[in-house]
Amino acid sequence: MQELEIKIKKDGQVLPGDVLKVGSFLNQQLDVDFLMEMGAEIARLFKGDDVTKILTIESSGIAIAVTAAASMHVPVVFAKKHVSSNVSGECYSVPIHSFTHGNTYNATVSKEYLSPEDRVLIVDDFLARGNAIRGLAGMVKDAGASLVGCAIAVEKGFQGAGDALRSEGIRVESLAIIDRMTDDGDIEFRR
Ligand code: 5GP
Repeated sequence: MQELEIKIKKDGQVLPGDVLKVGSFLNQQLDVDFLMEMGAEIARLFKGDDVTKILTIESSGIAIAVTAAASMHVPVVFAKKHVSSNVSGECYSVPIHSFTHGNTYNATVSKEYLSPEDRVLIVDDFLARGNAIRGLAGMVKDAGASLVGCAIAVEKGFQGAGDALRSEGIRVESLAIIDRMTDDGDIEFRR
């Protein structure tokens, strides 16, 4: 998505450790009009795939997931990273290692929100080493639901997880794929 590439070039900041900061429109301040455009693009890519539910993980996946859901008219379920009194009863739970925080947490989703009839689209803001996506895909499998694919705002292609998932037969659609980025801010997109 060309507008996303332009926005990343203009507003993105490369931090040490291969982290791209996009707090001005995707991760802290939310450019809602632009997120709606990204959501509409995700809906266009998965039109006709009979998605019944979008699955994401708190917190930074929620905004883009909600805009995709608004265009697809399906609910969003988000995995929680912390034990909460809001999550009661039986849960799907998977350990996920966080790329940005360097810790491992248990992501949980209440069993009542994922069922074998669901056709699930996983949506997240970033794809780095693939731990979040693999964790969420594990929950879809545990629920006996069908994984339609994954929609990502920004894939860091140089970290390899997107291509590994594709080679395993999982459909991964990323609105921008970064193939190279340097600490001095040089960013190269996949063509
Ligand atoms: P993965 O599990 O694929 O290694 O990492 C994906 C998760 O880590 C995303 O949910 C995202 O929140 C976070 N993340 C990974 N890389 C980046 C990055 O470069 N910038 C930002 N802002 N978040 C990232």
